[in-house]
Amino acid sequence: MSQLVETSSEPDSNGHFGPYGGRYVPETLMHPLKQLEEEYFRAQNDAAFQQELTYYLREFVGRPTPLYLAERLTQELGGAKIYLKREDLNHTGAHKINNAMGQILLARRMGKTRIIAETGAGQHGVATATVSAMFGMSCVIYMGALDCQRQELNVYRMKMLGAEVIPVKAGQQTLKEAVNEAMRDWVTHIRHTHYILGTAYGAHPYPLMVRNFQRIIGVEARAQILEREERLPDWLVACVGGGSNAIGLFHPFLEDASVRMMGVEAGGLGLVPEKHAARFQGGSLGVLQGTRSFILQDENGQIQATHSVSAGLDYAAVGPEHAFLRDQKRVDYSHASDEQALDAFTRLARMEGIIPALESAHAIAKVIQLAPTLGRDALIIANLSGRGDKDVAQVADKIGLKMPR
Ligand SMILES: *Cc1c(COP(=O)(O)O)cnc(C)c1O
Repeated sequence: MSQLVETSSEPDSNGHFGPYGGRYVPETLMHPLKQLEEEYFRAQNDAAFQQELTYYLREFVGRPTPLYLAERLTQELGGAKIYLKREDLNHTGAHKINNAMGQILLARRMGKTRIIAETGAGQHGVATATVSAMFGMSCVIYMGALDCQRQELNVYRMKMLGAEVIPVKAGQQTLKEAVNEAMRDWVTHIRHTHYILGTAYGAHPYPLMVRNFQRIIGVEARAQILEREERLPDWLVACVGGGSNAIGLFHPFLEDASVRMMGVEAGGLGLVPEKHAARFQGGSLGVLQGTRSFILQDENGQIQATHSVSAGLDYAAVGPEHAFLRDQKRVDYSHASDEQALDAFTRLARMEGIIPALESAHAIAKVIQLAPTLGRDALIIANLSGRGDKDVAQVADKIGLKMPR
C-alpha cells in the first residue's frame, strides 16, 4: 500500500507545521538529521522499499488489523455504532511496531548496525528490540527507572529479545529523561547508530516520518469502513501521548470534511499542575526535545511533572502536528481522567472480551461519553492502540482484585 502523502497537513521544508515543529537541536545533530531526512524521502519514493515494508507488515506484524464492530458496547450505550481498529492485535501488542519496522528498514538502508530507542510504558522498547532481533542489530533501550518498575513485564521482554535496557535515574525517572539519554547516546555514536524515536514528536523529520509509518492505520480503516458501511465514519477517536496512533488514524481522513476527530489526552487526577498530562489544557507554547509545541511548563519555562495512570500518555509535550490541527480546528482535543480510563478498561474487558491498554482505555472512555449523544445511524471508529497485558497487575491492584486462595 503506497504511503505517499498529499494533504493540507504537511510541514514546510524545515519541518514546521505552522508555528510548531522545526528542528531545535545542538549543531552536532543537524547533519545526521538532514541525512536521515534525505534518506527517508528517497526510501519513501522507492517502490522496492515500500514493497519490503508492506511485506514485513503483512508477514511479521500481522497486518491488516481488523476493524471490529463492538456489538455489545454499541447496544449498551444505545447510540452510534462503535468500530474498534484493532492495533492491539499487531505482533508485540500495539501500534508502535508499524513505525519501528519502517525505521529499522531505513536504518539498514543507511548501513547502520546499532539501534537505540527511548521508551515509556515499554511498548516502543519491545517493538524496537523485536525488529532489532529480526535484523540482527545490537539494541540499547533507555527507560526511566520509575517506568522500569511500573512496567517490569516489558523490561523482561526487551531483555529476552537481546536488548540492553538502561534505567535512567535522572529527574522524574520517566520518559522525558529517557529521551535526553537517547539523544546524548546518538550524538556520541552517530556513525553506526540509528535512533528509532517512538512517537510523532522530536526534531524534523521524526514527526513527519513517524506519522507516515503510522498512516497505515487510517489507510486501512478508511477502506474497511467503506467496504463495511459504504460510507465514511462520523467520528474518529484516539488517545494522544506523543500523538502517533492518533495522527496515523486521522491523517488519511483529513480531507474528508464530514469526518470529525477527537484526540484524548491524559486527564490524570484532575487538571491541576503535576496531576495530569493534558498539554492542551494546562500547556503553553515552548521548545522541548527538538521541537516547538504545546508543553506543560511553569512560568520560568521549567518542564512540569506530569501524572497519568498510563505510562504511555505520561509526557509533558504533544506532537507538533496535533498543535497545528487544533489551531485549524480540524481536530478536537479532550481528556479522560485516570478513573474514567480504569472504568473504560473494565467495561471493554467485560463487554467485548478485549483487555485494552490503559492508554487506549482513554479513547474508549470518550467513546462511552460520545456514542449515546449520537443517533443509531452514526459511526464511530476508535483506535484500540494496544492490548492491556502490560497493565493487568497495575489495574488489579487499583480495583482491588484479590488472588483466589
Ligand atoms: C505508546 C502508546 C501510546 C501513546 O503514544 P502515541 O504516540 O500517542 O500513540 C498509546 N497507546 C499505546 C498502546 C502505546 O503503547
